[in-house]
Amino acid sequence: MALVKADLGEVLPLVASGKVRELYDVDSKTLLFVATDRISAYDVIMQNGIPDKGLILTLITAHWFRYLQKSIPDLKTHFISLDLPPAVPQTLVPRLKGRSMLVRKLKVFPVEAIVRGYITGSAWSSYKKTGEVNGKKMPQGLQESQELPEPIYTPSTKAELGQHDENISTEQAAQIVGDKYAKRIEELSLKIYTTARDYAKENGVIIADTKFEFGLDEVTDEVVLIDEVLTPDSSRFWSKEKYQVGQGQDSFDKQFLRDWLTQNGLKGKDGVTMPQDVVEATRAKYLEAFKILTGKTLEQTLQELK
Ligand code: ATP
Ligand code: MG
Repeated sequence: MALVKADLGEVLPLVASGKVRELYDVDSKTLLFVATDRISAYDVIMQNGIPDKGLILTLITAHWFRYLQKSIPDLKTHFISLDLPPAVPQTLVPRLKGRSMLVRKLKVFPVEAIVRGYITGSAWSSYKKTGEVNGKKMPQGLQESQELPEPIYTPSTKAELGQHDENISTEQAAQIVGDKYAKRIEELSLKIYTTARDYAKENGVIIADTKFEFGLDEVTDEVVLIDEVLTPDSSRFWSKEKYQVGQGQDSFDKQFLRDWLTQNGLKGKDGVTMPQDVVEATRAKYLEAFKILTGKTLEQTLQELK
């Protein structure tokens, strides 16, 4: 998708542009949260996008918000609806419908709430070196990709665009956001992860780890789940069927792109254009994740939106 910025920005003020999303002001309390087709890996945005990726991310997120709100009664989320505000001109509707959601504008806590049910990625690297993950002692003898006895909360800083997030201890997270909010963020993160983990497992998907973001409703003093949730961009999804402990796992998510970048010495480099086969293979992974998690094809879901 071409950037929507140029056109939509004429009717709604663009308040922020992240690696993947663009946020527009609808009114003092509401944002239009638009997912583009941009893809980032190792914190760098690729030159070209993955067609329909923005739709997939938004609609997976909406699916989870609805499911989680039903399953966890005291959970508050920023999700309002998949509607477009009246200010959006008809000409832009086809490009925005399905990839945009109306959300409550909240004060974002500057920590990334990561939960890990399995040991992989940076946690596995750290464990091999020190036996610890984010300053927490882990059981001895864990193998790569092994399920942890209990899911663990391993927060990181939320870096500015172009910077890298850093793993921090829960104590450091508490210093950043304050004790009370840190506890609530941790508690909610673990609850959301376990709820989603059980749902996904029944559908043949292992959620190895995932990242949440939270905001504060300053009126009610409530910690609210924001951003995207449990998408292939924010999570490592593995096939339950193919899962084998003691090795790295094939996944539904960005691992394909990450592997291609690593193999070609492009990890962390700017200005990379993905070849067509990488684009297609990655798109297929996103579509597969969509189908498994929501139980519907993307076409069906788009039809229902109309
Ligand atoms: P960065 O913003 O550092 O580039 P990112 O690449 O993950 O991170 P995107 O996912 O592209 O960013 O954009 C989403 C941004 O919107 C995030 O910075 C997130 O914290 C912010 N955000 C999400 N939900 C809300 C909300 N309800 N109110 C305000 N900001 C939000
Ligand atoms: Mg994000």
